Amino acid sequence: MTIDNSIIKTDFSDWGDHRYFPISQFYKNRFGEKVYKVSVSIAETCPNRQPNSRLPLCIFCDEWGSAAYHLERDKALKEQIIINRGKIAKRYKANKFLVYFQSYTNTFDRVSELEDRFNIALAEDKVEGIVLGTRPDCLPARILPLLKKTHESHYVMVELGLQSFFDHHLTFLQRGHDVQRGYDAINKLHEHTGVDTGIHLMFGLPDETDDEIIQTAQIINQLPISNVKLHNLHVLSKTPLAEMYQKGMFKPVELDKYIEKVILFLQYLSPDIAVQRLTAVASRWDELIAPQWTKEKMRPTQMIEDRLSITNSYQGIKIKDSV
Ligand code: SF4
Repeated sequence: MTIDNSIIKTDFSDWGDHRYFPISQFYKNRFGEKVYKVSVSIAETCPNRQPNSRLPLCIFCDEWGSAAYHLERDKALKEQIIINRGKIAKRYKANKFLVYFQSYTNTFDRVSELEDRFNIALAEDKVEGIVLGTRPDCLPARILPLLKKTHESHYVMVELGLQSFFDHHLTFLQRGHDVQRGYDAINKLHEHTGVDTGIHLMFGLPDETDDEIIQTAQIINQLPISNVKLHNLHVLSKTPLAEMYQKGMFKPVELDKYIEKVILFLQYLSPDIAVQRLTAVASRWDELIAPQWTKEKMRPTQMIEDRLSITNSYQGIKIKDSV
């Protein structure tokens, strides 16, 4: 990819005055106004958590499978949407929503069941589309026509929990899939469905190098990916990682080091790829073991923004050096 970055960017108004392309701006460009995700917990399992699965759990995964609103997971889908949409509408005076199927693996059930869920979500007032969280190895051919059909009438984004573009990191994380699965999933979604694809990435992995971070951005720049979501690997209780942490086998990344990693990544990331979030935020504080800064919702993100501003840096500034 050749991006002419010879003109230094000084006006950030097209990014909402951020020094990276935030997903809020991406949605604004797409829908003409701010759009908010309404998280629901409907899927109840994943390949690793299946009874009789031979796969171990992903080392970072708590018992709620990344659900933001796990306490509502016994409620029907429609009810979850109404409750969570109401909260967001009140807080942000929001008018447009995407239903975010967040917990566990949301393409792991029967196609007819998924279609029913999509229809329930899309029939709701002010819902513009859906976002599906899933794994790269859970996109069987039978589900692709449903995604394509749904995307023809409504907006659909699939968020893939890719986590890393390096097999040795995926092995450490016990994901149960390799990088090739990630490439296959991204290309399959692009070629057969046309949906937007987002990927989740983790930084702060053991022995992670700056070169790997740069390469990650360069790989992403070549793929049909519209957005990325960044997390720092953090330790939650009752996870395999918690046991490793207690045995001294894993040390979480310090905030300052993590900020450096994120900035390095952003500098090499195409300015056309939106960024969903810059760090993980532990929503259940009682479960968080380390690092404690993962409890803070605003400070780490603000520090990244401040550092970008002070150093006059921004997303994509180093792309010319990398092509
Ligand atoms: S992270 Fe996702 S795939 Fe891994 S064990 Fe948790 S729910 Fe399953």
